[in-house]
Amino acid sequence: MNTTQQILTRLRHGGRAELSELVALLKAQGEDCNLIYEAADRMRQEQMGPEVFLRGIIEFSNICKNRCLYCGISIKNKDVKRYRMSDDEIINTAHNATKWGCGTVVLQSGEDPNFSTDQMCTLLRRIKAETGLAVTLSIGIQPRFDLVKLQEAGCDRYLLRFETSHSESFAKIHPDESFERRGQCLQDLRELGFQVGSGFMIGLPGATLEMIAQDILYTTQLKLDMIGCGPFLSHPGTELADEPLLDDISVYYKTIALVRLLNPRAHIPATTAFDALEADGRNNILTRGANIFMPNLTPGKYRVFYQLYPNKPCVDEDGAACAMCVRGRLASLNRPLGSGPGHSILNKAKGKSRLAGSCPSVKGLT
Ligand code: SAH
Repeated sequence: MNTTQQILTRLRHGGRAELSELVALLKAQGEDCNLIYEAADRMRQEQMGPEVFLRGIIEFSNICKNRCLYCGISIKNKDVKRYRMSDDEIINTAHNATKWGCGTVVLQSGEDPNFSTDQMCTLLRRIKAETGLAVTLSIGIQPRFDLVKLQEAGCDRYLLRFETSHSESFAKIHPDESFERRGQCLQDLRELGFQVGSGFMIGLPGATLEMIAQDILYTTQLKLDMIGCGPFLSHPGTELADEPLLDDISVYYKTIALVRLLNPRAHIPATTAFDALEADGRNNILTRGANIFMPNLTPGKYRVFYQLYPNKPCVDEDGAACAMCVRGRLASLNRPLGSGPGHSILNKAKGKSRLAGSCPSVKGLT
């Protein structure tokens, strides 16, 4: 057995890996690289089953007060036309999500200072009452008292990437935020009993394989219900324009495979940025550890204005087309569509009964 096989065997049996071992795996090429993909796919099949759950994403506002250096909708990008969908447009899109086979809607936006928590609560209550869908929010850092309100209004899950665990890099690319505040918000979400998702961008400027391995270990330490990671893609309208991709594209894929091997029971989406990296990127990732697909349900007229990175797929389509396309993808991969909300299976025995009013299913981490 070679070294790659030895480490993979250990991981497949629930063992841990040293930083240096993860770096070695990130360097693997050829047959060794395939062994990593196969091990992750097997782990996904054994722990999560064959189903792929759909989380329909609604990018409801591209208004943002922050200046994150990598992001195409940063306030500094004056070329972007700003929009905010009306409540009725969001609700109609959520109704479509149920028709299109999604058990969850993900509401994502920039850090829009004029979309109040009370407005979001009203929206959440309507979505829950009218559609019964699980709802994930991805709207940036919120104070704990607002998280409490959002949860009481029915929010099931929250996505907040830590972006990079390298605190110096974090500070450089986030002039308006601190790593500690993101961490505190993740901690609040966990204590309150949300299903928590986080993750990082793979290959930010200056990232070494050691730093990527460190991000994989940090992600694992957080014991997340959902882990969303995707390649960093440089946007021409940002300060990080012209930053190159990693020399070795397989590092992006191996990162997800290793995240799966270290987090057997987390939900892992095939993030959209993989399709911007390569035509079949999201399909590839579904065979290398991922079990979630997030069709874009944002109405066609807004999509072009929500380009966090270039080459974002499907900007000229609408939700119906994305919902059809995903069925074709899954059929070609021989993977069934998951039914129901696809809640976290991480801490099934520890669901918090006080949350039963908003969502009867299992929630949260302890
Ligand atoms: N305002 C929310 C949502 C941000 S957009 C928040 O701050 O959490 C969702 C994710 O897109 C970000 O967390 C980031 O990881 C990713 N993203 C933004 N710009 C990107 C880029 N240029 N390349 C790859 N991913 C990017």
